[in-house]
Amino acid sequence: MLKKLRRHLGWKLFLSYLIIIFIGVVVLTTAAELAIPRSFNRHLADMGNMMMGMGGDPGMGMGLESDLFVGFRTAVNEALVIATLAAGVAALILSLFVSRRVVEPIQEMMVASQHIADGHYNERVRIQSSASPEDFDELAQLGVSFNQMASKLERTETMRLQLIADVAHELRTPLSTIKGSVEGLIDGVLPGEPATYQRIYNEADRLQMLVSDLQELSSVEAGAIELHLQPVSVGALFSSLRDRLDRQFEEKGVDLETNVPADLPRVSADEDRIGQVLINLVGNALQYTPPGGNVSVSAVLDSSEVKIVVQDSGIGIPPEHLQLIFARFYRVDKSRSRASGGSGIGLTISSHLVEAHGGRVWAESAGENQGSTFIFTLPAV
Ligand code: ADP
Repeated sequence: MLKKLRRHLGWKLFLSYLIIIFIGVVVLTTAAELAIPRSFNRHLADMGNMMMGMGGDPGMGMGLESDLFVGFRTAVNEALVIATLAAGVAALILSLFVSRRVVEPIQEMMVASQHIADGHYNERVRIQSSASPEDFDELAQLGVSFNQMASKLERTETMRLQLIADVAHELRTPLSTIKGSVEGLIDGVLPGEPATYQRIYNEADRLQMLVSDLQELSSVEAGAIELHLQPVSVGALFSSLRDRLDRQFEEKGVDLETNVPADLPRVSADEDRIGQVLINLVGNALQYTPPGGNVSVSAVLDSSEVKIVVQDSGIGIPPEHLQLIFARFYRVDKSRSRASGGSGIGLTISSHLVEAHGGRVWAESAGENQGSTFIFTLPAV
């Protein structure tokens, strides 16, 4: 019984009501004990005096007085007992009702949280309120917050599973190429010549790149990147970009053009991080533009933002892929990008970095072989 009381809010409520009833009864009885005899005696004395005035017998008055007093006291006590019983029943009904309203949703949340802890992330609770969301009481608000927490957990879990599947998939191809080549060498099927070793080296290199990209991705996705924001000149960003990529453009025979208006304000940015974003976008433009094509990088002021535009005359992106290319491991043409060494993480990292600066990044393309344009914004100083 005591255990039941300790573990159930309904019983605790009932007990608290009983305590209130008990206190009420004690106060009422004490007050009645103190007040009734005095007022009764006063009243009867007045009546005795009246009867004596009318020539009655004082002895008869005394007998009647005690009879009346006993009768009155019994009536008061009976009324108290009936009232206490009625209050007890009311307390029981009320505690059942209140505990149903309060305890049921809490119990439901308890069960749901247990399910979530067991890995069933699609669990949600019913919001038991007929009011509109702005008028929800604390319990309904708790239910809403609980459901929000559950959806966030579900999303994170889906992302985690997807990431593991993606990483496993990405690691499998280079690893099986390396393993296959080494097996071929051991069995003497593959000649031990520089081309074979180069192939193994390239795959190992790709694995290494993938691992460092993953490391970078995990820190940008966790928001663990510290930005050292300062006013940065876009002209300086472009010239260090040229220092890094000019040779590769020349080697491939793609023309690189950069263009910054003289009066362009500086941008608030972490120079290294934005340099990394530019190298990713311009590197992609070079990778997906055939020899003889051209890539132009320019900047324009658009109200309080500076827009940086990377435009190429390359293979373009079909419209249905435009949104998806920023998702991790997404490649438009799986085999071609894999062959050229792309991990499909570069744009994901870039978009996180641009968003951490308070900017946006998006892609535009008229379609296949119509070239692509990547645009990102940064706050102007
Ligand atoms: P990757 O390392 O594969 O280049 P990214 O995240 O940088 O990964 O790019 C994702 C995909 O977006 C690429 O695989 C490619 O299909 C597409 N893409 C990116 N930039 C361009 C571009 N300039 N022209 C055409 N396709 C592009």
